[in-house]
Amino acid sequence: GSESTVVLQVNDVVKSFKGLRALDGVSMTVREGEIRGLVGPNGSGKTTLFNVLSGIHPPTSGTVEVLGMRSTTTPSYRLSLRGVARTFQNLRLFSLLSVRENVMMGVDRTRSRWTWRYILAPLSVLRGDRSIRHEADEMLERQGLLEMAGAFPSELSYGAQRRVEIARAMATRPKLLLLDEPAAGLNGDEVNQLKAIVQDIRAQGVTVIIIEHNMGLVMSLCDRVTVLSTGKVIADGLPEDVAKSPEVIEAYLGD
Ligand code: ADP
Repeated sequence: GSESTVVLQVNDVVKSFKGLRALDGVSMTVREGEIRGLVGPNGSGKTTLFNVLSGIHPPTSGTVEVLGMRSTTTPSYRLSLRGVARTFQNLRLFSLLSVRENVMMGVDRTRSRWTWRYILAPLSVLRGDRSIRHEADEMLERQGLLEMAGAFPSELSYGAQRRVEIARAMATRPKLLLLDEPAAGLNGDEVNQLKAIVQDIRAQGVTVIIIEHNMGLVMSLCDRVTVLSTGKVIADGLPEDVAKSPEVIEAYLGD
């Protein structure tokens, strides 16, 4: 409802790259427990917005408050410790670690403030920690991946590798999860599986923002949708209303 806590407040954010305005005055509000779709043609600024939200890029101007923190002044590792997790458009799994160890890498960050501990000896520390292992297995079980815990990522289907990435992000126990095109490259069954997974994540009280090109998925999964075009928000609202907006239809026809 409209009384629930604001998890993310973006105010008039501009992000320029050498004169190109990738984000051109973006404002949006996301409330706790929401599944928000972020859509728009290629190059409209979606990934740039994720990079600003997760503290990777400072905005050129404007403010971002995420979980009560200014992401403009908070480094991304600290945002992640405090509850912002993300996945990337291209898979970023550690290929020499098992599926379980990949997820364990997520768990450790929430546990230890001693950054040096996992920089200097990540695996020896992680492998010996039963509670971290247990927590990773819990995450894998929720994704139906426990049987594959000992395998290397390359031995899994592409869809399963995507789920490992989500499990690793969830292992940080986030309050806000940013998913960058999680359905890209998935088949129909895998998309349905992904949908159930995102709904399960929301049921755990996590707010989700999802960049997605699969409109069927966006329409059936998201509570609200924000549409970007050339760095500007051109629509923001219920999926069925956004889909009817003439500006949105035009932006997509020109893609
Ligand atoms: P989307 O995710 O919607 O496809 P992006 O956020 O990736 O869009 O890109 C928006 C615009 O910003 C594009 O024109 C892209 O070329 C540009 N851009 C994104 N990141 C950078 C960067 N690091 N340096 C220069 N230009 C960038």
